[in-house]
Amino acid sequence: MKLRSFRLALLTAISLFLAACQTTQQPDPASRITVIEGATVIDGVSDAPIEDAILVIEGDTIRNVGRRGTIEVPENAARINATGKTIMPGLFNLHGHIGMAEGMVRGWENNNPERILRDANIYLYYGVMHALSLGIDHDPMIAAQADQRAGRAGGARLYSAGTGFAAKDGWRPEGVAGINRPTTPEEAREMVQREAAKPADAIKIWVDDRLGELPKISMELCEAIIDEAHKHGLKVFVHIFYLEDAKELMRLGVDVIAHSVRDAEIDEEYIQLAREAGITQLATLVGHSANIVYVQGADFLDDPGLPLLFPASVLETVGSKEYQQRLAENLSERSGYRTSETAVKNTEKVVAAGIPIAVGTDSSGSGRFQGLWEHREMELLVKAGLTPMQAIRAATINAARVLGVDDRYGTIEPGKVADLIVLNADPLADITNSRKIDSLWMDGELVDRAALTSSDVASQ
Ligand SMILES: [Zn+2]
Repeated sequence: MKLRSFRLALLTAISLFLAACQTTQQPDPASRITVIEGATVIDGVSDAPIEDAILVIEGDTIRNVGRRGTIEVPENAARINATGKTIMPGLFNLHGHIGMAEGMVRGWENNNPERILRDANIYLYYGVMHALSLGIDHDPMIAAQADQRAGRAGGARLYSAGTGFAAKDGWRPEGVAGINRPTTPEEAREMVQREAAKPADAIKIWVDDRLGELPKISMELCEAIIDEAHKHGLKVFVHIFYLEDAKELMRLGVDVIAHSVRDAEIDEEYIQLAREAGITQLATLVGHSANIVYVQGADFLDDPGLPLLFPASVLETVGSKEYQQRLAENLSERSGYRTSETAVKNTEKVVAAGIPIAVGTDSSGSGRFQGLWEHREMELLVKAGLTPMQAIRAATINAARVLGVDDRYGTIEPGKVADLIVLNADPLADITNSRKIDSLWMDGELVDRAALTSSDVASQ
């Protein structure tokens, strides 16, 4: 991002100089035209990719895209040959906890604007260009969002569900400051109004008793929260565990089921309610199996990005026998294996029924590697029955629709913002090729990926 702001400063300096010379030839970055030619483009809309494509970018906007020969190439354009590459839209994550990790410690007390913006850079390194932080944010997030909107900071565009809603003394546990714990519907509505005024981009509710250990928020309170959120144009995301809770929340008009149902296999009634409510499902398969993969041997620890972005101590810990043993003990205590298997089965059913799926991973650092996790979620979604094309849509246009930004982002179409991932291999042939990033474009500018890795890894 340093490069982008440097460029902007340089262009400003040049235009000021030229204005001083009273020339009429002022360069205007908004009309600079770039043509990327010869790549295969997965536009996020068409069923098949566009082979040998011409992609015309003017300023930060996609002006045209199509097969060579069908698109006019402007004469004054800078031309980039991308033969052999595949281009897809920038990715989204609808469930992260951003700026919470310090080494292996993940917690609200670590949260500050610097860590939030560090995570935004890590997401962007992997091509995740939009990230929604789901429910434990305070002033540091508002400060980080303000920095981004004023152009003082870059990285993945940050969205926030403010501070979420939970039962008094319930999950999320006490210790996470500022969680809204209403006791009456009136109080719940006032709290939603406060979140809307922040302004939060969405509302989050935790509906979970941690296998009977803690109180769970009542449906009466959820009804008030959902109704008030909708009055403010905010979508409601619910963390659920139980089938019956998910059904009841869909009857109340919830918008997004974050996490899969994990206590039982979903049935025809669930599918029917999901259709009627028009929900989007976040499967969060990578989140549910986060601990299991370390026990079973994590095959992603050789990812070349990890040592550039995360401290060596974190990589050493998650690769160690001691860590795996500790997780294995916890997993059998909390029947983690079974609930993860149930989540996969339920995702298969949701996919088969055609309920829209969007990528939300619960990535948050400290072993739940933001950026890489979103690519792994696509991989697990393909294993659960999505085609690679559907998995890419789950990570792009489906998520953009949930955030209400699909008029500008989520596909490669004329009029959309030029947010592109240029790949060295075809993700439709093998979804893990989505990680083979050659380069990234954001707002029509080439991203300096190397600068994203220099966000002081040692201080994490
Ligand atoms: Zn979460």
